[in-house]
Amino acid sequence: MEGQTRHAIMTRLGVMGGTFDPIHCGHLLAAEEVRIGFRLDRVLFIPSGRPPHKQGKQITEALHRYAMVVLATADNPHFSVSTMEIERPGLSYSVDTVSALRAGLPKESEIVFITGADVITEILSWKDAERLLGMCEFVAVTRPGYPTAGIERVKRQMGSLAARVHVFPITGLAVSSSEIRERVRAGRPIRYLVPVAVEEYIRKMGFYTQAG
Ligand code: ATP
Ligand code: MG
Repeated sequence: MEGQTRHAIMTRLGVMGGTFDPIHCGHLLAAEEVRIGFRLDRVLFIPSGRPPHKQGKQITEALHRYAMVVLATADNPHFSVSTMEIERPGLSYSVDTVSALRAGLPKESEIVFITGADVITEILSWKDAERLLGMCEFVAVTRPGYPTAGIERVKRQMGSLAARVHVFPITGLAVSSSEIRERVRAGRPIRYLVPVAVEEYIRKMGFYTQAG
């Protein structure tokens, strides 16, 4: 009984951060594969409010990026979406996000931060990287075009913290938000690359038709 109670309160939470401009099937597949592979109870998608690494680039208003993530995840009972980075003032640092999440979860809960093979290679440049790696584990999914050698290189620079980063091979989808935006701008189809509801929202709102 004691064991059951402990199990009931302990959560394994996946965190899928991103700019999601727009969310696409690559994000969804990565989150679902990690959810199943790492036996996560749920995955929380957290659209970045103001991404530190995309300063100076034009990005779609946070409210609309959030709306597209909600539309894309609505049919998966294990997925939910957070507004915490959008509502928090200033740049969106993962260390602030994860520490806020930790504060709201039972003590024994585990947080698994999901990234692609491209993003994980930058982790050592993130704000308070060591503290962040102390608070959650990272799963870096494979991504076409980003060899895992890059992840191994970063892990070698991490010392004992390397044990906190797991490389996870998934079925590769060579899709990116940049490519979606470029396709829309060029009048090419994005069907099957994003969920239908997201495709319709992009069309209705007229997103990505201008260069930039
Ligand atoms: P952009 O081209 O604008 O950078 P993106 O497709 O890389 O967009 P992001 O919002 O930057 O999407 O990425 C959010 C997270 O999802 C990152 O950790 C990224 O590595 C991961 N990711 C994005 N696309 C894929 C994909 N096709 N396969 C695996 N991981 C992905
Ligand atoms: Mg990206």
